[in-house]
Amino acid sequence: MAQILDGAALAAAIQHDVAEEVKQLAARGIRPGLAAVLVGHVPASQIYVRNKVQACAELGISSDLLTPPDRITTEEMLALVDQLNRRDDIDGILIQLPLPAHIDSKRLLDAIDPAKDVDGFHPVNSGRLLAGRPALAPCTPAGVLEILKRSHLPIAGQHAVVVGRSDIVGKPVAALLLHADATVTICHSKTRDLPSITRQADILVAAIGRPGLITPEMVKPGATLLDVGINRLTTREAFDRFFQGNAQREAAFAKRGSVIVGDIHPKAFEIAGAYTPVPGGVGLLTIAMLMANTVRAAKMRREP
Ligand code: NAD
Repeated sequence: MAQILDGAALAAAIQHDVAEEVKQLAARGIRPGLAAVLVGHVPASQIYVRNKVQACAELGISSDLLTPPDRITTEEMLALVDQLNRRDDIDGILIQLPLPAHIDSKRLLDAIDPAKDVDGFHPVNSGRLLAGRPALAPCTPAGVLEILKRSHLPIAGQHAVVVGRSDIVGKPVAALLLHADATVTICHSKTRDLPSITRQADILVAAIGRPGLITPEMVKPGATLLDVGINRLTTREAFDRFFQGNAQREAAFAKRGSVIVGDIHPKAFEIAGAYTPVPGGVGLLTIAMLMANTVRAAKMRREP
């Protein structure tokens, strides 16, 4: 029977540790602070930001939510980031993506002080991560490593195959696995004969954005499967392809008209040694890791 790597329990354990660190910092008169910038009215973004601000409150981190008007220009946003870079009470700056199309997101993210880049997207942090220097690593990849470490799953010497090479997930997760002494292979949309490579994986990380692309035939029995993908299924046909006969999912689909599936086909979990479910796996660690990064940024900046 495969071990389920429970994202909620792992996130709670991380948040518990972060709260302890916040208390220790408070004893030295330091209160970590996060600034969250939300532009526009994308409902999912509003929920994400609300959850991040709430997590700060629960852990004793101060937060400042900025909601500039939709029509704000790139120049005005740059001025806002500049102010946040200069504020001593702010340790982390989070710009919720996606931004409205008229704003130059890349320019803006590059303007964040790397010391306050708690999303870990700044090229300086990517470079430091690759060079094995202290860096703020992106939250989802850092969460993947936390899952493995806190579940005491072996990494050193294991063959880790990462499917997906994005700057925010695939590349950084590969770098983190490499630093933890895994033998790492990165696959992507141009990889030839993907199944022959994924079948070699002791640890398989899927960060593709294609529902159930990793099928049971592509998995080595007993492997650890980490599913980063979040894909919404909205048609009956798509639902049946993954969850036909699954009463629990059926009820969810009937209620909401959609269900979430990862990049790994649920049937593949049956032959795994351990796996992260979707939902309820990797996704739940992202906010916990953002909190951990904010405390880390506070420590690195205020106690160099
Ligand atoms: P992306 O679109 O930037 O990158 C996808 C990668 O998959 C690319 O590198 C591409 O080469 C590769 N790919 C595409 N088709 C492929 C194929 N047929 N075979 C092999 N490789 C293929 O996506 P991303 O931003 O890295 O996100 C990946 C998934 O993770 C998405 O479902 C996203 O929603 C999810 N995600 C979840 C979290 C979280 O859990 N908090 C965070 C970020 C992203």
